[in-house]
Amino acid sequence: MKIKEFTIVNDCFQYKSNEEIGVFWRVLIINKQTEIQTMKPYLLALAITLFSFDLCIGQENDLLIEAESFRDKGGWVVDPQFVEQMGSPYLMAHGIGTKVKNAVTTVVFSQKGEYQLWVRSKNWAPGSWEAPGKFQIKVNNKLLEQVLGLENGWGWEYAGKTNIKKGKIKLELVDLTGFNGRCDALYFTMSDSKPPEDAEELKKWRKRLSKESKIPEKIKKFDLVVVGGGIAGCSAAISAAESGLNVALIHDRPVLGGNASGEIRVHTLGIYGHFERILKMLDTEHYPNGSPEAYKEDKKRMDNIKRYSNIHLYLNWRAYDALSNDNSIEFVDARHTDTSERIRFKAPLFVDCTGDGWIGYWAGAEYMYGRESADTYGETWEKHGELWSPEIADNFVMGSSVLWRSHKVDSVVEFPKTPWANEVAVNYAAANGGWQWEFSRNDLHQVHDAEQIRDHMLKAIYGSFYNEKQREKNDSLALEWVSYLVGKRESRRLVGDHIYTFADVRNYVKFPDSVVVEKREIDVHYQQNLLDPEKPDFLSDALFYKTNPYYIPYRSLYSKNIKNLFMAGRCFSCSHIGLGGPRVMRTTGQMGAAVGYAAFICKKYNILPREVYQKYLKEYMQLVLSSNGHGYESDK
Ligand SMILES: Cc1cc2nc3c(=O)[nH]c(=O)nc-3n(C[C@H](O)[C@H](O)[C@H](O)COP(=O)(O)OP(=O)(O)OC[C@H]3O[C@@H](n4cnc5c(N)ncnc54)[C@H](O)[C@@H]3O)c2cc1C
Repeated sequence: MKIKEFTIVNDCFQYKSNEEIGVFWRVLIINKQTEIQTMKPYLLALAITLFSFDLCIGQENDLLIEAESFRDKGGWVVDPQFVEQMGSPYLMAHGIGTKVKNAVTTVVFSQKGEYQLWVRSKNWAPGSWEAPGKFQIKVNNKLLEQVLGLENGWGWEYAGKTNIKKGKIKLELVDLTGFNGRCDALYFTMSDSKPPEDAEELKKWRKRLSKESKIPEKIKKFDLVVVGGGIAGCSAAISAAESGLNVALIHDRPVLGGNASGEIRVHTLGIYGHFERILKMLDTEHYPNGSPEAYKEDKKRMDNIKRYSNIHLYLNWRAYDALSNDNSIEFVDARHTDTSERIRFKAPLFVDCTGDGWIGYWAGAEYMYGRESADTYGETWEKHGELWSPEIADNFVMGSSVLWRSHKVDSVVEFPKTPWANEVAVNYAAANGGWQWEFSRNDLHQVHDAEQIRDHMLKAIYGSFYNEKQREKNDSLALEWVSYLVGKRESRRLVGDHIYTFADVRNYVKFPDSVVVEKREIDVHYQQNLLDPEKPDFLSDALFYKTNPYYIPYRSLYSKNIKNLFMAGRCFSCSHIGLGGPRVMRTTGQMGAAVGYAAFICKKYNILPREVYQKYLKEYMQLVLSSNGHGYESDK
């Protein structure tokens, strides 16, 4: 293999070559002697450093290839949403009914021979029909006969035996359906043993094969580490950076904005409060949810964030752990979603803007999940009874959505039959989805069962669209876009010194530390089939409580028990009903901006978030209230 050039992109080591080779550089070590001979001396040093991390994957004759590391993904997308549940990011053939282009990579085998091939995959809609997400593997342009994506649930499927020559081998994932076939990893082995299925065993096996060290390859230090690049995370990074802090912004997607991004396409609601200047760099116009206009706002957001040289942006990096000692977070570990490279992020202060409260969860922060009973915080609204707030606490949080749309084109277009979607869509027909396409069930957890929830929505969408296509005059109706990312509304809420509830809204409580102000009505969602069992289970409705302006105190934006943890976004400290109003993205953006300024005060006096309230409230509030006036000219 000839290395053409090395680049450091976003601190991520990558290489480009003049031949078709895999970016999966862990595989390089298999043939390191030959690789190294072709490198220039200064590159040699770098390569030796890398190899010394022992990132080799597999024993002499075994090779594990993570699908997300394929060099050319073709039409397959990297899906890192469910790593905590199924173990890894994976590649998915999200072709919305049309087969996608092959994903291609090249790996180097050090020994020729007959290998058994195992592929970790999943039939995401098992039943008495053909599996929707089928695919095959090509090895050096030869299609292996075995069709994959047939087994119920994540597991290793046997793809057959294949004779492999020593040297470079081309691998391809061949989509057969266009309906979300998924491939996590390929394992070539000369032994007869099947890789482990059990999640914990598999994790250990992966670590053993890759000889992954306990500590990430790199350690980086910052004044503030913000995890999650939704509107809250971006605004926290900006206000902290404007105050002079050196900030890391870690985000597991290629674009910023979270639900507001072009990948999910929700427009931002709410008011600007004290932070109009900052939020206007990040928010969206009021286009319909699902509109491609979201792309232009992605560009605006990215351009604005990149103006700050002290915001270090880690796109496509997913945090996977946070360690706390004496109730204080020491570091957050993150992994690149394609290359598996790892970084340990150290800082005196952290902000959890992941929506799901991951950093708090890993660090041992107190958190809440589900609907509290009506009397826990006195949140009854007689008019709506159980739909608003239940007598007995339950898990019916507001649900997750997958947005989608279709359009008319100039010619007749076919849409395949989707029998596997019927159990969800039944007879429902639709050409577009909106916010009401939402799924929550008492027995499903919005984090642990998120893949099942996303797949339920995919069945709802494909099945309803198929039904719509059967109607007259819809010959030229084509699916235009279906997101594969779940847009979430509610899951874990981290507990702060103040838990924000309906009582704070109803009583218009003005706190001494009111940093967020909102006047949007409180809206709380419920599934339509709770009122009418004939309704599909994937549609929701909302109850609106009209209100005067309400205020959120700073004390709801830092953790009660993890001393150096802030939170902003939908995982702030509130009850289920308390989240009803302020979960929208200008309001969550206000939370982020407020937290960034608090981090500045912490740094200035070398104190913890709680002490900002206890000792420096006046100075902090002045900073918040004058935010629009003290914009700083970034140096880029
Ligand atoms: C269909 C739908 C319609 C809605 N309608 C509106 C509306 O009209 N207007 C409005 O303002 N709000 C609306 N909402 C609500 C709003 O979008 C959410 O409440 C809001 O996005 C929450 O903001 P957040 O920053 O907390 O989370 P997010 O927007 O979800 O951002 C968090 C980001 O963190 C990333 N992340 C998560 N874990 C990690 C990790 N471990 N490492 C790195 N990155 C991570 C995620 O990829 C995500 O992009 C709607 C929601 C949905 C689903």
